Amino acid sequence: NGPLLTVENLTKHYPLGGGFSKRNTPVIRAVQDVSFSLEAGETLCIVGESGCGKSTIARLLMRLIDPSEGRVLLEGIDIASLKKHELRNQRRRMQMVFQDPYSSLNPRLSAGQIITEPVENFQRLSRTQREALAAKLLQQVGLAPEIMHRLPSELSGGQRQRLGIARALSLMPAIIIADEAVSALDVSVQAQILNLLMDLQQELGIAFVFISHDLGVVEHIGHKVAVMYLGRIVELARCEDLFANPVHPYTETLIAAAPVPDPTHRGLEARLEGEVPSPVNPPTGCAFHPRCPLAVDRCRQDVPTLHTMADGRVVACHVRAPTIRENSDIVSEAL
Ligand code: SF4
Ligand code: MG
Repeated sequence: NGPLLTVENLTKHYPLGGGFSKRNTPVIRAVQDVSFSLEAGETLCIVGESGCGKSTIARLLMRLIDPSEGRVLLEGIDIASLKKHELRNQRRRMQMVFQDPYSSLNPRLSAGQIITEPVENFQRLSRTQREALAAKLLQQVGLAPEIMHRLPSELSGGQRQRLGIARALSLMPAIIIADEAVSALDVSVQAQILNLLMDLQQELGIAFVFISHDLGVVEHIGHKVAVMYLGRIVELARCEDLFANPVHPYTETLIAAAPVPDPTHRGLEARLEGEVPSPVNPPTGCAFHPRCPLAVDRCRQDVPTLHTMADGRVVACHVRAPTIRENSDIVSEAL
């Protein structure tokens, strides 16, 4: 039995300006050749600046959109091959928690109805069954049973996000995809929600794909981290390795630019110069080269491929993760 989730060379291009895919229409390269795997009970974080393709990956995993290329295997089965009724079952195995718990919860339903609704899409519940299920789910996310009678508007931001999590839990998924799930919350509430997610993982063995732009959050919750830049993974490593020793220059600048930088970490200067380039017209070669302090000539020409390092992480960088041949090129350039 292989990994719970395997993503192979996932790619998504959109024609610019809507659905008419005429020839020569510029395309947005939202996700480019992304691969990773996820085991039961594991948390993979996907980090990067806004527009780097993180949310597109979430939508591809949930099969809300179809990939241009590549595959998503859930328990070894290609989700693109699923028929409609099988897709319903796949949705049971994979659930999503969104950034804004308010807009993702139906304002006219009570909290109890909101969290039991996914189950009721599969089976009819009596009022007693519904209330018992609601009470159990509320308890799992640390909310009092009385809350089941309230409307979302009567709850705090943290309570609403707990409700979003309870709703995702209701179908007992193997994987929860959380897209910026704590970004809208106060810092103290963020910590409570992260701890709740980690407790649920311990108890229920749930795996998370945790999408965030916040490195502090990622360091807290992640087992593995994929760093994305303009639609591509540039570094994928165990969380502790990534934070102790970032290898890709983009990872390094991200960590150094984080609000509470580690003063013992010295390396590239701590600021990211310039804007993220457009995914419609990405820079040639390594897309990071216009912002990279280490760029050499070859970075402007060749797209670096992911290279496996001694500690098992993968990195796409001509300078920091060179193949042997590339290494000799760089030495000769430096001389
Ligand atoms: Fe910088 Fe070149 Fe590495 Fe890209 S490939 S991150 S431009 S050194
Ligand atoms: Mg997003």
